[in-house]
Amino acid sequence: MPEGDAVHRTAGRLRGALDGHVLTRSDFRVPRHATADLTGRAVVTTVSRGKHLLTRVEGDLTVHTHLRMDGSWVVTPAGRRTPPGDLVRLVLANERWQAVGLRLGMVDLVRTDEEARLVGHLGPDLLGPDWDPDEAARRLRAEPGRPIGEALLDQRNLAGIGTIYRAETLFLRGIWPWRTVGEVEDLEGLVSLAQRIMAANAHHRSPAGTVTTGDRRPANRTWVYGRAGRPCRRCGTRISRGEMGTGPQERLILWCAGCQPR
Ligand SMILES: [Zn+2]
Repeated sequence: MPEGDAVHRTAGRLRGALDGHVLTRSDFRVPRHATADLTGRAVVTTVSRGKHLLTRVEGDLTVHTHLRMDGSWVVTPAGRRTPPGDLVRLVLANERWQAVGLRLGMVDLVRTDEEARLVGHLGPDLLGPDWDPDEAARRLRAEPGRPIGEALLDQRNLAGIGTIYRAETLFLRGIWPWRTVGEVEDLEGLVSLAQRIMAANAHHRSPAGTVTTGDRRPANRTWVYGRAGRPCRRCGTRISRGEMGTGPQERLILWCAGCQPR
């Protein structure tokens, strides 16, 4: 599942292909907007907000997309054939480039002044200009009895974290994922660490995937994520794997019972 850093990079690719250029094709393959046509309008820009993408178009319109589980935006030279079948949800193209949205979890077209209806509930974005660790910690503290692992994934508290950054950040701070928010001493430090790891990955993307250890070799990229049953790199305890939270796709949690004791 794409987390904040992947969405942030996607926004950059869309800006490079679409910003300032007039759309020569728009193709919404979602029932709600099947008749929408943005042809002839210039794209202003694309920004990311947590895991959401907002593509602003001339005439105060915003295309809102979300990658959800396995969505992606692919940029190719204009006129290339798009994948067959129902993978394609949206195409935005100009004379040079086409951006093809595959398996997008959400596609909305709204007035730009209605963006808040779609993303206004989000907490501070780890990679956004509004990032504010104190505000993220304040929001987390509002529900002190909640397990910290669950609260970190709630995008209303802070926006951008998914299962990889949750597991890795909690490991690095030695926090058992079911410890309650009220029992975590330094929430500001915890969210600041998550922000630093995500920012490092956003700006120095490894082709192998998310790196939290500083070691880019494929087998050494993470501390606990993807390592269930294997020995902890710090203490040798076998990494545990479990489920937490209520989101159907975001339950996976990995931790080291040695480094993250109850
Ligand atoms: Zn350990």
